[in-house]
Amino acid sequence: AHQYVKQPNLMGSGCDSEGIKHGKVQLVGAGPNDPELLTIKALKAIQQADVIVFDRLVNREILDFAADKCQQIYVGKRCGQPSLKQEEISQILVELAKLGKRVVRLKGGDPFIFGRGGEEGLLLAKHNIEFEVIPGITAAIGCAASSYIPLTHREIARSVTFVTGQVVTGALPAWSELVKAGQTLVFYMGLEKAQEIQQGLVEQGLNPDFPLAIITHGCSRQQKVHVSCLDSLTSKARELKGVSPALIILGEVVKLREELNMTIESVISQEEV
Ligand code: SAH
Repeated sequence: AHQYVKQPNLMGSGCDSEGIKHGKVQLVGAGPNDPELLTIKALKAIQQADVIVFDRLVNREILDFAADKCQQIYVGKRCGQPSLKQEEISQILVELAKLGKRVVRLKGGDPFIFGRGGEEGLLLAKHNIEFEVIPGITAAIGCAASSYIPLTHREIARSVTFVTGQVVTGALPAWSELVKAGQTLVFYMGLEKAQEIQQGLVEQGLNPDFPLAIITHGCSRQQKVHVSCLDSLTSKARELKGVSPALIILGEVVKLREELNMTIESVISQEEV
């Protein structure tokens, strides 16, 4: 039994109370859009899956790697309708595993970075279902690479913080903790909270001309990198309203982009706004 199981099941790991062997769930990171950013381990898991349960942010081209007989279940947002509740998704995973299926739970980026992989894992553990996590390249890492923004850089940024703009309860993070010298901030799901982010950071003394980049549709052919500064974050976000997914990188490191990008300008085709 894995370490999360508080009451060890005497039948051993991956069995129910009657000792019937369950299937297995793999929480797999699909990376940020570009199918070539999958790990080999993720690819193998996808190829061997009986069922794939996937989210909105997963590039559909990745599903082409699955076997013909593989069942594919979409649990993301449908037009206008909300996505399935987290508990419902977790329940689907449990039920499929109990049918003895080899289940891949495919998520954009990395399952453990703002991906609720922990919540699904906890429920699987509670049901004594064997699961494994296969990491993926998270949006911050993918978008930083594809937009030539090093998240850390000697003498400019010695730490990087991943922050979510969406909070279940309470307020956004304590702004004072986020405003540290030599730090890069990456906001996931931050576009809708642009005004709060701008206000919070400026109030804590961050310079209004602090550089930032908003990367939309990162690591895809539609990727755009919008470079501006803190005092125009709200207006930029308004312009980009509804464009998804979008990631905000704030930091002096954004300035390095121009120089890093120059030598390879001809190779990449990115539209600057
Ligand atoms: N588990 C995912 C994050 C899920 S939260 C990961 O590790 O990347 C969803 C948020 O991630 C989006 O609102 C956006 O802020 C960011 N995101 C995910 N994919 C992205 C992409 N291709 N380009 C830009 N932002 C992305």
